[in-house]
Amino acid sequence: MAASMSTTPGSSAGKTVALIVAAGRGERAGGGMPKQYRPLAGVPMLRRAVRTFLGHPRIDAVRVVIAPEHHALYHAALDDLASGSQSLGPAIDGGAERQESVRRGLEALADDPPSRVLIHDAARPLLPAAVIDRVLDALQVAAAALPVLPVVDTLKRATDTAAMTTVDRGNLWRAQTPQGFHFAPLLAAHRRAAAEGVEVTDDTALMERSGAVVARVAGSENAMKITTTEDHHRAEALLNASLEVRVGTGFDVHRLGPGSSVILAGVVIPHDGSLIGHSDADVALHALVDAILGALADGDIGAHFPPSDPQWRGAASDRFLADAVRRVAARGGVIRHLDLTLLCERPRIGPHRDAMRARIAAICGVPVSRVSVKATTTERLGFIGRGEGIAAQAVATLALPPEDEVDG
Ligand code: MG
Repeated sequence: MAASMSTTPGSSAGKTVALIVAAGRGERAGGGMPKQYRPLAGVPMLRRAVRTFLGHPRIDAVRVVIAPEHHALYHAALDDLASGSQSLGPAIDGGAERQESVRRGLEALADDPPSRVLIHDAARPLLPAAVIDRVLDALQVAAAALPVLPVVDTLKRATDTAAMTTVDRGNLWRAQTPQGFHFAPLLAAHRRAAAEGVEVTDDTALMERSGAVVARVAGSENAMKITTTEDHHRAEALLNASLEVRVGTGFDVHRLGPGSSVILAGVVIPHDGSLIGHSDADVALHALVDAILGALADGDIGAHFPPSDPQWRGAASDRFLADAVRRVAARGGVIRHLDLTLLCERPRIGPHRDAMRARIAAICGVPVSRVSVKATTTERLGFIGRGEGIAAQAVATLALPPEDEVDG
């Protein structure tokens, strides 16, 4: 089948783009910063939403519509995701209202139109990947697909007086996002609505206007929209309850040879020898890298940065640690604690302990209070005792979302 398809190389034909709407300026969920950029259990809400789509195998590209004055916030929240992925395109400037923001997002895609587009609210950061699958499955036969949940509470309609009537909830649904569409008809519906001055609250409403059948698929309570401070707290509680703690250990040794300084945990310490290795031989950072990779069950430092590869010759080891930290972030995890023990008779570690903790904390983006550096000797026994080399061991404690939430 692939052989019969003639698409322009690099063209978006046949592809699915997720368009995430994050152009709101509201600060309702508390605390100054617009809510989509505020940390939710340590990770900005928008970043969580973007990551869900970037990590989904059936999504080819992700674009975000933002308020024009939020570019700095956007870059701070997402830049590393963009550099690590071909599929996160540049931010699109939105409009004053949601409908206008979506239309501008679609127009930005119109030159190289994808086949399908999913429109998602950044304020629904806990969207399960399975909802994306259900929407895409429905799009194979329907013009549009909408995730919904039944209304479980009894609904009342209140009048000006104290009188109330009960509303039959049997035919009522709560609409969520992502809402899925074939790209061309949605863009046409948005252009028509803009020309006619028609305003609606969601995108399926525009398709309904044009008489299209909108397929309903099961939404998820976890795809709740975070609007109030109470929503924010509930989402954080959900996230924290679902994280699992993983512990990894790392160990490394490097030989001492001629030289005048060693690099330990990124700190240069005068010494009557130097550590020998293919990189800068920072035994402390190497042990930390392996501890983090161990907690991720993601191989070891030698697998990711083979000593046989000349590009790592003399490399500063903070690059290896930064890479391990990126791998944690890519899994949606956080580093809870790092505990490093250096084993050597000399140099004395105590005077450099705080500098090492600060350096590790800076590389890993964690508070210094979550980094421990200890040192011990081996009572002059063995190769360490004889000053032939320095060893380091490390324990990394991570909190990670369960695998099925990341990949499923
Ligand atoms: Mg090493």
